[in-house]
Amino acid sequence: MGILNGARRLVGDLAGEASKQAAIIQLQTERDSLLSRLEETYARAGRRAEVMHRGRRFEDPELVDAFKLVETLTARIVQLEEEMRASREDRDPNVICPGCQKVLDRGVRFCPVCGTQIRICPQCHAVVKPDERFCPGCGTKIADQPGAAQVDPPPSAPSS
Ligand SMILES: [Zn+2]
Ligand SMILES: [Zn+2]
Repeated sequence: MGILNGARRLVGDLAGEASKQAAIIQLQTERDSLLSRLEETYARAGRRAEVMHRGRRFEDPELVDAFKLVETLTARIVQLEEEMRASREDRDPNVICPGCQKVLDRGVRFCPVCGTQIRICPQCHAVVKPDERFCPGCGTKIADQPGAAQVDPPPSAPSS
């Protein structure tokens, strides 16, 4: 009977361990959510202080520094987003249907207006007309099989 009781105690200990673990996880979860609320609240107070600062300059050098940094970071973020947009458009220029000149969405394989198959040069991303076997932009040979030259090729497709 001693062994059985020992085993029972062990199971009980394990269950206690597990529920202790669960309790710790619950406490951590609650702490983390309060921490993120605290951060949000600081951010809200900071934005409000910034608005007030614009109307009536604060004297505190740390606040002045912080608001200056906010301005610099915001400007840089806007600049980066513009660069991202520009390079995205550069990589995937608008596709114009060679059949009917309609501006098409990126990634279409057939023009939804006239049904022309849209082929894109994997090298220079120029639109290749259905009867063209070489890219009019860079002279790359375009394979005949449908699907060989697709919209949105990998950026560094090897020329073979
Ligand atoms: Zn078309
Ligand atoms: Zn080309």
